[in-house]
Amino acid sequence: MPSTADALTTELRASFKGPITTPQDPWYEEVRAVWNGMVERRPAIIARCTDAEDVAAAVAFGRTHDLAPSVRGGGHNVAGRALSTGGLTIDLSLMRDVTVDPARQLVRAQGGCRLADVDAATARHGLAVPAGIVSETGIAGLTLGGGGGWLSRTYAMSCDNLQSVELVTADGQTIDASDENHPDLMWGLRGGGGNFGVVTEFRFRAHDLPPELLVGMGVYRADDTAEALLDWTERYPDLPEVLSTHAILKQALPALPFVPPELHGRRGLLIVALYVGDRSDKAAEPLIDTVLSAGKPCARTATTMPFAFGIQRFIDADFAPGARYYTKEAHINELPEAAIGRLVEGWHELDMDGEIEIMGMGGAVARIPKDATAFANRHHLWWFNFAMKWQDPAQDASNIGRIRAVHDSLKPWLGTGIYANMLNFDETDRVVDAYGGPENYQRLGRVKATYDPSNFFRINANIIPVPGA
Ligand SMILES: Cc1cc2nc3c(=O)[nH]c(=O)nc-3n(C[C@H](O)[C@H](O)[C@H](O)COP(=O)(O)OP(=O)(O)OC[C@H]3O[C@@H](n4cnc5c(N)ncnc54)[C@H](O)[C@@H]3O)c2cc1C
Repeated sequence: MPSTADALTTELRASFKGPITTPQDPWYEEVRAVWNGMVERRPAIIARCTDAEDVAAAVAFGRTHDLAPSVRGGGHNVAGRALSTGGLTIDLSLMRDVTVDPARQLVRAQGGCRLADVDAATARHGLAVPAGIVSETGIAGLTLGGGGGWLSRTYAMSCDNLQSVELVTADGQTIDASDENHPDLMWGLRGGGGNFGVVTEFRFRAHDLPPELLVGMGVYRADDTAEALLDWTERYPDLPEVLSTHAILKQALPALPFVPPELHGRRGLLIVALYVGDRSDKAAEPLIDTVLSAGKPCARTATTMPFAFGIQRFIDADFAPGARYYTKEAHINELPEAAIGRLVEGWHELDMDGEIEIMGMGGAVARIPKDATAFANRHHLWWFNFAMKWQDPAQDASNIGRIRAVHDSLKPWLGTGIYANMLNFDETDRVVDAYGGPENYQRLGRVKATYDPSNFFRINANIIPVPGA
């Protein structure tokens, strides 16, 4: 950033309505902060947009001054890709309106929405859009990279339910993209990340969802975890799509009423099973029972919970913003006994806070052909993720080293699938895998060359434009 920062800011103010924040402002740190407290990136200008016009003005300003911007939706990207280092950040966090058309089951969400905004608006109409599992996550980054969570086995990914968008392109135009209008771009936006422009509005198809869902939880002692995981993975392929289940190896079991008091704060396994349908369906309770009778649970419970204000907020407290987070993700199809044995050993080697998640996928996600959307890594049964955290910066290097070592020791079983949205700062060599392999990546490169030939939007899991496309 040149030393003329003040002059640049003054120039931007002439065309931009929203607040502009620079390091001189006393509130800069608050505005700059993203979810992961380990992220040190410090933009010179944070332009907080109020509408699509502001986004277009910020893009035009960036072009004029050759400032490739970062784009911030919810600020949840683990590697801090929402923030520029010393340059321009186009921040949509003030753009969080959601409107629901219940008759058409259509949801419009502005580009800075969090999942909580969308869930709260849709719940009023008995609807839901499939998204992630932590309510503070941004709908923008999540959807553009794929978007998987509790409803995915039944209703597929967020990107599969995306019908159209309003987008500001690298040359400053505001366009609509859908399957009819710019179909190549629409294909790329369903999984190709923030590579093609700034999305100012997402339009989703929503699904009917009962006000309360049946959810079951099983608690397992650390010593019983390997047996339970093996049993759970064996039962998993036969489960119907209406059943969603995750296994979570917790470093410290929560002090919830169904967890035996002697296990509060101790290492243990939680298996969660959700019936994504009417709780009075005949199949609901037996299916939950099938999942929770895996292995030897020391406690189990089944209850009903609202989706938006219950299930979608269930693990929020464990992922509060500001801690130092390091994640490492992989997609898997098999967890044989040897892999589970190593996983459980590795779990004991990690003495920091957090969890290892095995999120159940497959179902509706896997039924969509690989080439139908840019999100191509869809034929895996599970997303496997180390989500670890601590507070002390002095522990960064050793904790990261230990997580990597455990992850590396599992490599024989991990394969190549990885989620673009979870690519960490040290995984830039995995971008092609994250976008589904060389063929899919090349196709994305051709779309990139059409809509952003100079790679203006490059502070992301970047796709290089394919020349001559
Ligand atoms: C605690 C936690 C839980 C998570 N759980 C899930 C989960 O259950 N399922 C899942 O699928 N993912 C999950 N993720 C990953 C999540 O999808 C990514 O972190 C995603 O990047 C978050 O989106 P965001 O808008 O908050 O990102 P930001 O950090 O704001 O931005 C990340 C990138 O997204 C792009 N971007 C953001 N906004 C826009 C926009 N309006 N237009 C164009 N590009 C934009 C930019 O390229 C930017 O670099 C989780 C992440 C965290 C931290």
